[in-house]
Amino acid sequence: MDQITHLADLGYLVAAALFILGIKGLGSPRTAVRGNQLGAAGMFLAVLITVVQMQAEAGEGGVQWGLVALGLAAGGAVGLLMAKRVEMTGMPELVALLNGFGGAASSLVGLAELVRLAPEMTAADGDPAAGYALWRAVFLIGVGASSLIGWTTLTGSVVAMLKLSGKWNDKLGLPGGNAAKAVLLAGAVVSAGMLFGDPASTTWLVALTVTSCLLGVAFVAPIGGADMPVVISFLNSLSGVAASATGFVVGNNALIISGSLVGAAGLILTGIMCKAMNRPFKDVMFKAYGAAAGSSGSGEKRSARGYEADEAAMTFDGARLVIVVPGYGMAVSQAQHVVREIADELEAKGTEVRYAIHPVAGRMPGHMNVLLAEANVPYDKLYELDDINSAFSECDVALVVGANDTVNPAAHTDPTGPLGGMPILDVEKARTTIIVKRSLSPGYAGVDNDLFYRSSTMMLFGDGKKKLTELLSSVKEL
Ligand code: NDP
Repeated sequence: MDQITHLADLGYLVAAALFILGIKGLGSPRTAVRGNQLGAAGMFLAVLITVVQMQAEAGEGGVQWGLVALGLAAGGAVGLLMAKRVEMTGMPELVALLNGFGGAASSLVGLAELVRLAPEMTAADGDPAAGYALWRAVFLIGVGASSLIGWTTLTGSVVAMLKLSGKWNDKLGLPGGNAAKAVLLAGAVVSAGMLFGDPASTTWLVALTVTSCLLGVAFVAPIGGADMPVVISFLNSLSGVAASATGFVVGNNALIISGSLVGAAGLILTGIMCKAMNRPFKDVMFKAYGAAAGSSGSGEKRSARGYEADEAAMTFDGARLVIVVPGYGMAVSQAQHVVREIADELEAKGTEVRYAIHPVAGRMPGHMNVLLAEANVPYDKLYELDDINSAFSECDVALVVGANDTVNPAAHTDPTGPLGGMPILDVEKARTTIIVKRSLSPGYAGVDNDLFYRSSTMMLFGDGKKKLTELLSSVKEL
């Protein structure tokens, strides 16, 4: 190994350390910004080392700096624009799309290398040099894996994004269920195998790409309702595995390491979410729970009574413990600041206020934590599901702000429904439950919520921020 390779490997080691410290930082809202910066610095270092090493090894005219600058400028500009424009509520769709881009980029790099080297490989097959067979095997397995996983990730992520934004027609999908997935997977693996034998074959290259793309659609299209967070997290993991496979194709250690980190982190998060939703991973992927979610209520028309803000505010009078339960509607209406103001007002009157955070509240893991942190709610007032559920029976008021599935008792009463088995926040045990939302419409999983019709529930119908602002004025007058 020459000196340049040694130096590059040392630099990659520093980049890998920055990635790991970055992921560690992301573990807490306090250190998340620093973690993000460390990860970005690691990636900048890795890219810099890669192009400098290419230049040093190839000499004059080795790197087309104009193209590198163009790529950096275009990618940077799109990233900056998206980050500035996207609303907090659109973040999960953006994450899904970025996973897809990651998968596509890995596949394209792998395919570009295959197209570049296939003629040489075909010529060299007759007269192999020492170590060639091993390099060839690693290269072609890498290309096959990055294509299969990368294209599957791309199309699966696009479907997930469309589902999240409500633009996917649930009637769309591939016929044949799990058998069709098995056939497509087998088709992709066979195509990759045929490419191993004949790297220059356009037919098998196209077959691999098409079957992998269809596989992504076949996997994600039938999955619906409450299971989408698990799918997005799993696709994130797959995009990492695809990047890692591409790292073997281009012989880049930084790509192998960063891809593995994303793959492992995504898989761990997938496991955590499956546990939080009490859904085995294989059931999420193969059972298509709640795909055509629609309302799974009894169908009978029931009416719930709506209250005014001043009536609801009376329940806070003399309350010892109030638990705020935020959900997706708080994000939509950007009500987090007024939620904190209500909490400040109640605390000034001697009431203890806690926040109950369901692991899949909102539309991405940590969604509520981010919003409440933005409103300067102290972290130590945020409680996870297992730590807060027993407190509901002692609480005077549960204030539910735009949450629905995560408090829906159907998770207990309808075990085979879309929410069946998912642990929920037991707001029904509170003395009074105030629910702020615009209508009786169901949440993301499309399941009617019995809580709205209970005698201990007060419905405050309207936009979250507007209704809470009215509630704040009434609380001030108590
Ligand atoms: P839900 O999606 O169950 O319910 C949100 C509620 O907010 C709706 O019923 C809606 O009712 C209300 N709402 C919408 N806009 C407003 C507004 N402007 N003001 C007041 N209320 C509003 O939310 P939850 O957070 O309880 O549950 C999250 C769901 O999303 C779960 O099913 C979860 O599995 C799924 N999911 C979660 C992801 C994650 O990682 N966290 C990712 C993908 C999906 P109305 O229209 O009547 O106002």
